[in-house]
Amino acid sequence: MSPLGEILRRRIAQNGPISIADYMAECLMHPQHGYYTTRPVFGVAGDFTTAPEISQMFGELLGLSLAQCWIDQGQPDRFILAEAGPGRGTLMADILRATANIPGFHDGAEIHLIEVSKRLRKVQRATLQGHDVTWLDTIDALPDAPLFLVANEFFDALPIRQFTRDARGWREHQIGLDNDDLVLGLSAPAPIGLLDHRLDDTTPGDIVEVCPAAGPIIAQIANRISTSGGAALIVDYGEPRSLGDTFQAVAEHQPVGVLENPGQADLSAHVDFENLTKAAHGVSVSDLVPQGVLLERLGIAQRAQHLAANLTGAALESHVAAHRRLTHPDEMGTLFKAIAVFPNDLLPPPGFTHDA
Ligand code: SAH
Repeated sequence: MSPLGEILRRRIAQNGPISIADYMAECLMHPQHGYYTTRPVFGVAGDFTTAPEISQMFGELLGLSLAQCWIDQGQPDRFILAEAGPGRGTLMADILRATANIPGFHDGAEIHLIEVSKRLRKVQRATLQGHDVTWLDTIDALPDAPLFLVANEFFDALPIRQFTRDARGWREHQIGLDNDDLVLGLSAPAPIGLLDHRLDDTTPGDIVEVCPAAGPIIAQIANRISTSGGAALIVDYGEPRSLGDTFQAVAEHQPVGVLENPGQADLSAHVDFENLTKAAHGVSVSDLVPQGVLLERLGIAQRAQHLAANLTGAALESHVAAHRRLTHPDEMGTLFKAIAVFPNDLLPPPGFTHDA
């Protein structure tokens, strides 16, 4: 068993079963043995690939949408350009390159990255060389100013709790021990206030997940946007509403068991977009849009054609494949979805709609 597996096994033997949220938090962020704190993670050599690592077009188009919001809001002189969970820093680098010629945008942008992993901060520093960057552990540490923020595959990495409904209430999925092995089990049934709103659309046997950290994070983003202006573009894989078991582990681009080698596989869960939307007070939230549709509205076809003009052979083939991968419904186009958070009484950012 991995070193973190040993630590967890001892903890459970002493104190009893832990929730999936505790398990996820330890596996991803344990200071010595956590996945994000120790592993190279992204890209072909890592365990999984994200949209900005697939093609520069993703960050360019999101960056231009954000910059258009900044223009529409009167080009505030000083503003926060932020990313939550920036990974290797590729998305922010693409945003900065695409917006370099927009007069005043870089001059006013104070770049802030919200990143807990010290290892990834170093990678981000190298990727963003030449830019003045401030790193923060949490969103609430952001200074007060108009906030233009992106978050791609950030919310799926936040710990979730998982429950199965039964005739007497909800049973939480927990991690306990069977002899010396980590095993999944269920707590005794109890009413869970957090899930009262799911009593009408679920029946016994259904599994529902909640991400306790997501609501407060969205509430902080919304609070800044409602008081100082700005916009947030949030992209992730998920559904309008959580239903079913989506807790998953990936290592070397393959699904693996969630309890195998703790700390050595990426753990994530689908995002419940309704929960994000409900926690955004004092602002408007766009309709949920599939990633493929969003990128098409933002002009990915034209951008792809323009880039293709300079490519031949294998480079052209991989560019065409990347375009397809980002947008096609069988690839990331439908599973990945986006919402935008923006001030009340304004139009949504380019690419988004808002049915009032
Ligand atoms: N957005 C990047 C990386 C996604 S992976 C991309 O699209 O390629 C998730 C990122 O969120 C990593 O950088 C991870 O270290 C960071 N992260 C995870 N949980 C976090 C938390 N609670 N606070 C801040 N950053 C977190």
